[in-house]
Amino acid sequence: MSDTIEIMKSLAHRNIPITIIGGGIHGISIAVRLMRDMPQAARHIVILDKHPQPLTEWRNKTERQGMTFLRSPAVHHITSDSLGIVDYAQQHDRTDALAPPYNQPSTEIFWDYCMEAVKEIQAYPIYHQFNVSKLRWDKGTGRFPFRIISDKKYYGGEGFRSSCVILAIGSEDCAYVPEAYRDWQRRYPNRILHSSQFSVNTYQRLEKTGKIVIVGGGLTAGTLARSLSECGHSVVLVARKQLKTEQFDFPPIWLGPKALTEFAGESDFQRRYQIIQENRGEGSITPDVMESLENNENIRILPQTLIRNINMDKHLIVETTRDVITNVSQIILATGYRFDLRDYGFLQALIKQHPIPLVCGLPILDTNLEFLPVKNLFGSGTVAQLQIGPASGNIAGANLAYQRFRDRVLANVPKNYSNVLVGQKNR
Ligand SMILES: Cc1cc2nc3c(=O)[nH]c(=O)nc-3n(C[C@H](O)[C@H](O)[C@H](O)COP(=O)(O)OP(=O)(O)OC[C@H]3O[C@@H](n4cnc5c(N)ncnc54)[C@H](O)[C@@H]3O)c2cc1C
Repeated sequence: MSDTIEIMKSLAHRNIPITIIGGGIHGISIAVRLMRDMPQAARHIVILDKHPQPLTEWRNKTERQGMTFLRSPAVHHITSDSLGIVDYAQQHDRTDALAPPYNQPSTEIFWDYCMEAVKEIQAYPIYHQFNVSKLRWDKGTGRFPFRIISDKKYYGGEGFRSSCVILAIGSEDCAYVPEAYRDWQRRYPNRILHSSQFSVNTYQRLEKTGKIVIVGGGLTAGTLARSLSECGHSVVLVARKQLKTEQFDFPPIWLGPKALTEFAGESDFQRRYQIIQENRGEGSITPDVMESLENNENIRILPQTLIRNINMDKHLIVETTRDVITNVSQIILATGYRFDLRDYGFLQALIKQHPIPLVCGLPILDTNLEFLPVKNLFGSGTVAQLQIGPASGNIAGANLAYQRFRDRVLANVPKNYSNVLVGQKNR
């Protein structure tokens, strides 16, 4: 805690040109790109995150479900050189950590490569553990209109000012629990958990006293089922629809100019929201994970099944549209996330003070990913979906977002450095 207070002192009352809120995949990726494009910018950027170390959220979410390989290909990672991981694997004699058919990296090599990128950032005092409790925009108050205030309890309630803010806050705060489960969850709070609250690591060590029911038909549900079955648990996978096998979670066409130009031509943002839902679908499972679920004696799959009721005797009794599952020790809701800007407490005052237009919780940003009407506030990740489309929240979305706001963000670096930019736009 004393380190935290020292760090806070170093930010308190300062004027910082560029602030990135979120030190996850998107926040770090954007910082690395900004620093590579304009090395001098490093002295004018801070990254704020509630965790003491960068990328903690990524590490937690992949470890929690026992994910061994990424879903996306090797060219999607956190630096600007697309072959970065492939080169890294070759240099370190680790090409077996890239899986066919698209060189999907293992979570281990992806992590090691990320740590190399983090070293570039940590050469400067850029990353700060700082839980943002309030973001204010005082329009018309000069060059540093944003005020960023920390959580009082843990970080002293200090604040500083900034010219430009990038929100790279992910969607972890928006875990989606379907309506039908909310009441059951209130009744059995320790027995019914969203996947974001559950870790296979804890379960590896526990006695196998009852079945584990996993609700969902996406990759999180599939990976959890595989990991738990591997450590000897008996798992029932309950999915509303038939399970679907797909390598990617959205059609790759969404990374190219054709689909994105058409998307940009759609002026109805409600329709854009629908297009995103249609293209991300209801969830699918990669071929390798699906193979490990099939003919697995520890896993029972119940497709096209709904849960009708949940009761408790000594263990949970789960009544489905197919049959009754008894002796259930735990239910895990692998039901995903539904981003809603209003779920982020630190943004509530800003949303109240300035009428940020929202469609189903997503902000309508301009084509540079700048918030309306808040000048110099940008978004990357799921928050930018209405402009970037279905790939926005994925790793590749950080590069798409960066290309949109790069020049606007770097314009906040004090002038005597900006000549370094010339000729580096497409790095
Ligand atoms: C299990 C899993 C596997 C995935 N695998 C892939 C994959 O293979 N390929 C792919 O392309 N995508 C994948 N994704 C999707 C996506 O790439 C990840 O979710 C990725 O972590 C998103 O990055 P992000 O930076 O937007 O969010 P995060 O990594 O969640 O980072 C957001 C950060 O913001 C911080 N933050 C939020 N609010 C505040 C605040 N008030 N103050 C300070 N800090 C704050 C959080 O602490 C967090 O560190 C996966 C997602 C999951 C859940």
